[in-house]
Amino acid sequence: MKILVINCGSSSLKYQIIDSESEKCIAKGLCERIGIEGSQITYKPEGGEKEVTEAPMPTHTQAIQLVLDAITNKKTGVLSNLSEIGAVGHRIVHGGEKFAASTIINDDVMAAIEECNELAPLHNPANLIGIRACQELMPNTPMVAVFDTAFHQTMPPEAYMYGIPYEYYEKYKVRKYGFHGTSHAYVAHRAAEMLGRDFNSMKTIVCHLGNGASVSAVKNGKCVDTSMGMTPLAGLMMGTRSGSVDPYVVELLSEKEHLTIAETEDILNKKSGVYGLSGYLSSDFRDLETAASKGNKKAELAMKAFAYRVVKFIGSYIAVMNGVDAICFTAGVGENSPIIRTMVCNYLTFLGITLDQEENLRRGDEVDITTKDSKVKVLVIPTNEELAIARETYDLVK
Ligand code: AMP
Repeated sequence: MKILVINCGSSSLKYQIIDSESEKCIAKGLCERIGIEGSQITYKPEGGEKEVTEAPMPTHTQAIQLVLDAITNKKTGVLSNLSEIGAVGHRIVHGGEKFAASTIINDDVMAAIEECNELAPLHNPANLIGIRACQELMPNTPMVAVFDTAFHQTMPPEAYMYGIPYEYYEKYKVRKYGFHGTSHAYVAHRAAEMLGRDFNSMKTIVCHLGNGASVSAVKNGKCVDTSMGMTPLAGLMMGTRSGSVDPYVVELLSEKEHLTIAETEDILNKKSGVYGLSGYLSSDFRDLETAASKGNKKAELAMKAFAYRVVKFIGSYIAVMNGVDAICFTAGVGENSPIIRTMVCNYLTFLGITLDQEENLRRGDEVDITTKDSKVKVLVIPTNEELAIARETYDLVK
């Protein structure tokens, strides 16, 4: 069965067609600047040339129509007609406490996702628009919602409750939810497969280090803690996000800089993290690594502070799980930066971790970067959220 995977943002939309049998991506692409001047669609069939076409997309429905046209195009398309799409898998950012697993979308599910809008005001409304647009164009194709938060729903209350009055949890569902769940689940499963271990009887720490970054602790097949919180601003320092800071910082910056709370939060979301700490040099670790190698002290500080926080989460998760079998690195930085991996692992020699520096330089593969005698395994596992969404979708509709 061919599965269309949709990741819909407010002005962009990523898509892939995945064959559920071979688990291969047979076409993928991106619509950008939806609802804005100068919109364009990128389409790349497997083994074919990438095409970028400017086309007006006033709405998400028009963007998805262009995607469907591209994949069924007589010359360059990968499907002969739309009936070949067996199901659509939608990435949904926030499922609140309602969704601990993926689910087939119906009217009740749509209403329940809408109820979570308050928890992810930038993402969930856009995700819903994507679903409605697909329903309009493919009314008879089953749709599945796959939630970023679902994998973390197994956390115990002592991990997800904040130390604030209980009534705010009851009234407003204020608690930790965690994000990147599809990636954490995929990587933790792959780690068990790579090591020939039973997923349900191992302790794994997954470091998803991309522009957004989070760490999770997975014990006996269940997520027991994760670093992001009620929103994806919490936890690690990230590309442009501050991660957790003393809440008083918000009050102080608002007062001194004459900013509203929303404006201060915008700074914490978009101008902070390694970008802000490096003196607005870059949020991209490639730029920071280059600058640091040329002696830029702020770039070096940003990298050190980033790695230090990753180490602190790893340490605390080893404590809560009473041990660890494997530590995994994934996403843009985790998969591609031997320097950051080394900076993190240099703190962890007390675990009997020794890196194999040659393996650590390999790129693009699933690889164990520790020496044979290393007591704890450190794995680099390229994440594949689209494949994970396609699998979940197929399992529910087959
Ligand atoms: P993601 O959000 O997972 O797509 O990750 C994007 C981030 O990965 C970029 O902003 C870079 O900081 C980082 N990245 C990508 N390639 C490399 C690389 N070769 N070395 C270091 N960092 C990289």
